Amino acid sequence: MRIINKVIREIIDHAKKESPLEACGYLGAKDGIIIKKFTLTNIDKSSEHFSFDPKEQFIAVKDARAQGLDLCAVYHSHPSSLARPSQEDIKLAYDPAMNYFIVSLLGVKEDVRVFSIKNGEVNEISLEAVDDKRV
Ligand SMILES: [Zn+2]
Repeated sequence: MRIINKVIREIIDHAKKESPLEACGYLGAKDGIIIKKFTLTNIDKSSEHFSFDPKEQFIAVKDARAQGLDLCAVYHSHPSSLARPSQEDIKLAYDPAMNYFIVSLLGVKEDVRVFSIKNGEVNEISLEAVDDKRV
């Protein structure tokens, strides 16, 4: 999975801004490279789980479509746990076509990882950060 550096920085910034609550949103790709973040409100206002605001989610889906972007991933933060899907994340990962980004703020340096979750089975996907200028 490829993503431009700028979006990685934006995900980390969003995670830090919302901490200790979880931050969440969608990621949009063009030609197989994630180039845009769609920030969504975590209506759970929780540090352990998240739910999208359905109204914002609807707008993001529409915007992405209008911009020719493929919403290929969901991201959320783990302010105080590892960048690994929790039991609840696995349970709620209803879309097998989706990729799930998790940014952990637990360590000294932020950790961003991406997973596929299919029928309860978690697999980490390799992540390649692409120079913004190459897009
Ligand atoms: Zn989680």
